[in-house]
Amino acid sequence: MSVVNGCGQMDLIRKAIETAERVFAKNSYFFGDFMTYRCDSLLVRIIDQENIFLDSYPFKSENLCGMLIVDEYEKTIVYNSTLIAERRNFTIAHELGHYFLHRDKQSKFTDRSKDIDDNTLNELEMQANVFAAQLILPNSIVLHLLQNGLHYFQIKKKVQISYQALYWRLVNYLINNHGLNKSIAQQVVEEFRYFSEASMNNIVHHKMASIYSIVTRTERQKFFV
Ligand SMILES: [Zn+2]
Repeated sequence: MSVVNGCGQMDLIRKAIETAERVFAKNSYFFGDFMTYRCDSLLVRIIDQENIFLDSYPFKSENLCGMLIVDEYEKTIVYNSTLIAERRNFTIAHELGHYFLHRDKQSKFTDRSKDIDDNTLNELEMQANVFAAQLILPNSIVLHLLQNGLHYFQIKKKVQISYQALYWRLVNYLINNHGLNKSIAQQVVEEFRYFSEASMNNIVHHKMASIYSIVTRTERQKFFV
């Protein structure tokens, strides 16, 4: 599998984002108020609806994070039970990415840490990672939590997303939905993280961070979904 670039890669990213948003939209009514959103509840619901068996096993190799196996009788996701919650959630969402995007291409996916951490390996892994980040924290949830004034660490805890995954998800949200370039988007998220930390120490109110005014602008440039 070769690494793709240019327009091809943008199409793969767009498809992963749109698929994740569609899967979330089908289940979003379950969270009457988005303030009650938790990604683990969403994942369990999707797995149930798709009639997927969810299993865990304490794989000796901690590099082995998860698997998706699809055959004519059943669909199974297995995750490494030694993973911490945030990592487990991302792994399950990644396997769901293979399920929704790639199950006609392969019947078995075995994912090691490098598949989930490195988006340059191949196009299927990159797409499953983009899908996972979008599914765990869909656009409407990002907007809702920021509109309600939550700071970086409150979002991290509520959604059960890792520090690093939240950072890149917010950077990509600003790029895709507000037209910011990557370096400006990173500065905005770094400022948000810094103000959130300072807010917890009562040094400054986190709502001084520019991300709040950017995401609540009425004239939003929407590139995806
Ligand atoms: Zn994978």
